[in-house]
Amino acid sequence: MAFDLIVKGGEIVDGTGKKAFRADVGVERDRISAVGQLGDTEAGKTINASGKTVCPGFINIHTHDDLYVIRPDYQEVFEPYLRQGITTAVVSNCGWSLAPWTEGHGDLLLSTLTTMGISKELKKEWETQADFHDYLRARPLPFNLVPLAAHGPIRIAVMGEENRFSTPQELEEMKDLVREGMEAGCRGFSTGLTYFPGVYAHTDEIVELARVASEYGGRYVTHVRGHSDTYDQAVEEAIEISDRSGCPLQLSHVFAVPYLGWKATPLYYAVGMIEAVNRVIPLPGIPNAVLTKAIKEVDQALDKGMDIGMDYIPYVLGNSTVTQLYPPWANLGGTEKLLERLQYPQTRARIRHDVENLEPKWPHWDEDSWSDNYIKAIGWKMLKILSVESEENRYMEGKRVEDLAKEAGKDNFNFLADLAIEEKGSVTFLFGMPPRPWTEKVFTRIQDHPQFSIGADTLWPEIGDPPPSGYGCFPRIMGHYVRELGMYTLEEAVWRCTGLSASRFGLDDRGVIAEGAIADLVVFDAEEVADNTRMEEPRVYPSGIEHVVVNGKVMVEDSRYVAGDMPGQLLIR
Ligand SMILES: [Zn+2]
Ligand SMILES: [Zn+2]
Repeated sequence: MAFDLIVKGGEIVDGTGKKAFRADVGVERDRISAVGQLGDTEAGKTINASGKTVCPGFINIHTHDDLYVIRPDYQEVFEPYLRQGITTAVVSNCGWSLAPWTEGHGDLLLSTLTTMGISKELKKEWETQADFHDYLRARPLPFNLVPLAAHGPIRIAVMGEENRFSTPQELEEMKDLVREGMEAGCRGFSTGLTYFPGVYAHTDEIVELARVASEYGGRYVTHVRGHSDTYDQAVEEAIEISDRSGCPLQLSHVFAVPYLGWKATPLYYAVGMIEAVNRVIPLPGIPNAVLTKAIKEVDQALDKGMDIGMDYIPYVLGNSTVTQLYPPWANLGGTEKLLERLQYPQTRARIRHDVENLEPKWPHWDEDSWSDNYIKAIGWKMLKILSVESEENRYMEGKRVEDLAKEAGKDNFNFLADLAIEEKGSVTFLFGMPPRPWTEKVFTRIQDHPQFSIGADTLWPEIGDPPPSGYGCFPRIMGHYVRELGMYTLEEAVWRCTGLSASRFGLDDRGVIAEGAIADLVVFDAEEVADNTRMEEPRVYPSGIEHVVVNGKVMVEDSRYVAGDMPGQLLIR
């Protein structure tokens, strides 16, 4: 037998959690056809993996890559993905997708999505989910995409900018669109219940829509309705939706920002001192009550036999769009309306009042409630500008809002509002404490839960930098979490990044190294693998990721990107 590719003499960590073993991997076309001692069998290409770890390609379980894979320069944009070993990405998360893209409400969809850093110039080339899939299939993809049907565009297609519950008629129309998405091969249905328009949807609406997805064996994937002090209630709602609809659940990017209010600023300074103590006497990390409570609810549901998956971003940081910093009512009608409201003194004053005063409240369907007032929750100090659109403001990227405001001689609120207007809403930001050992413990104390997969949740704005996860997410798990924190064995870490994620979306022949499985592979040096990004410098490639194979094709060789034929596939159901 001759192989197209042999990966020789590596330590196989096969993605099931099983202990590593030494073997060769033989690949014919896009599949693994042998795992064992292959001796001197002939091969079109041989990768020497002795002393290295060989594992399945990493599955990035939470991404928005469909919004960026339509960029003209997408093959370069995604080089860092391949370089960190990602071979498959689940897309259209948080209720966001570019399909369906209807005639009637197309502008609203586009203006809402431009806040995620996609181009305002984008031309409509598809309408339905099936059309969008055809468009993606015609595009040579560097890695595999797993599509989901997304709530946002579906609700916009049927209800436009309406900020109310759906009528029975509208619900029927939305169900038809979910069905259309599932018929086109989507593997689940996603919501983003803090974003426009998901924020206006009643629990019952989501139950009905998720039920359609469940008829097709899909998963309900959700960015829950609040990541601050109402997080436990938001997770309870997600579990209820899963229970009532019969749809297995995936809780996206599990985190909760504790609601600090006035304590945010003193704590910001205190963390420096706590870190100093922590270097001498390791401290346990502050318990995050809502997070602990949410995990307890998940455990109870698991005990009842429910199917619940979770994922997290391995950074003590989040990234989002500036629109998220303003209350839901202010976002009504999309980004342009928000910017108008920020321009008129009266509405601006009302927005300011809410940003400064509204505390988390559940549920937040009525006009004056808001569960995710980030600024009030964590304080201005934790906010950094990640990207802007204009050249003039480029220097702001990576800087703290508070410092920039001081330089501009404005207060924080006015500074950010003016910037949002100037940049037409295209401002993304990072929030969170600097990733320090002690603050990290707030999250690592729950991250050994067996249901956790890993997702990078990277935004790739047209201009400006992506967050560090775009370059370092999976190397960070293999390096920092395995070697430095000792939180997982290498086998367990690989399983969380491969086999576990594949099982969530029915990717039966991926996420494992076994005869007959698809040849998505990573060869890395377990001693050296590391995420090299820093907050201030996110565009740094990782160390130790040596070879990456997608569908049998070598995409990274000796840590160099091999551009050329693009082997990625759209992995429909
Ligand atoms: Zn999200
Ligand atoms: Zn997301």
